[in-house]
Amino acid sequence: MVRSVRKYVIMGVQGSGKGTQAAMLARDFSLTQIGVGEIFRWHVQVHTKIGADVRRIMARGELVGDALVEKVVRERLDQHDWNYGFIIDGFPRNRRQAEFFLESYDIDGVIHLDLPDDEVRRRVLARRLCSQCGMDYNLIAHRPEVEGKCDVCGGELVTREDDTEEALAARVRDYHEKTDPVLDLFRRKEYVITVDARPDKNTVQRAIRKQLGLQPEAGTQ
Ligand SMILES: [Zn+2]
Repeated sequence: MVRSVRKYVIMGVQGSGKGTQAAMLARDFSLTQIGVGEIFRWHVQVHTKIGADVRRIMARGELVGDALVEKVVRERLDQHDWNYGFIIDGFPRNRRQAEFFLESYDIDGVIHLDLPDDEVRRRVLARRLCSQCGMDYNLIAHRPEVEGKCDVCGGELVTREDDTEEALAARVRDYHEKTDPVLDLFRRKEYVITVDARPDKNTVQRAIRKQLGLQPEAGTQ
């Protein structure tokens, strides 16, 4: 049977669960999940030329520029290992990147996970990290068995350094400033479905599939 190729972008603020939702879609519809942040981390870890550039940029306290982001995304998509399509997360981050993307690829849908700012705050500020083994916890969704202690190693749970009220408020503001124009651009092309990201992950996933008109195909499970 001929399977369709599906190309999606998933967008959502930190804490909206977009990585989880993208993984669930990728699994059931044989999509290649592309996370731009992960690609950069990979380049840094294996010390590629791009990784060296990224390290230098970060050391200066700057953000990776559009040109480099576009190059990395283009290279990744040019690998063509996405026979049944892809779902991309972490791109485009601004209007210019969105325009580049639309020029190069036809996309089938933009999944916008909508989470009110006060809920973002509640979720992100509940994150904890084991100070010894680095295991992630969340006081809402993944509580440790003993308060303040890691289930795995018994280490003390701490708040991430960049999870302060002020830092989070700045990240959320930055997200809206950059992402809202991207969503507006995609909305004008009628690509965007908006899904309420507040319910549990299975409910959110069902809502995404319903709005995209997706049903699992035979042989993909
Ligand atoms: Zn631990």
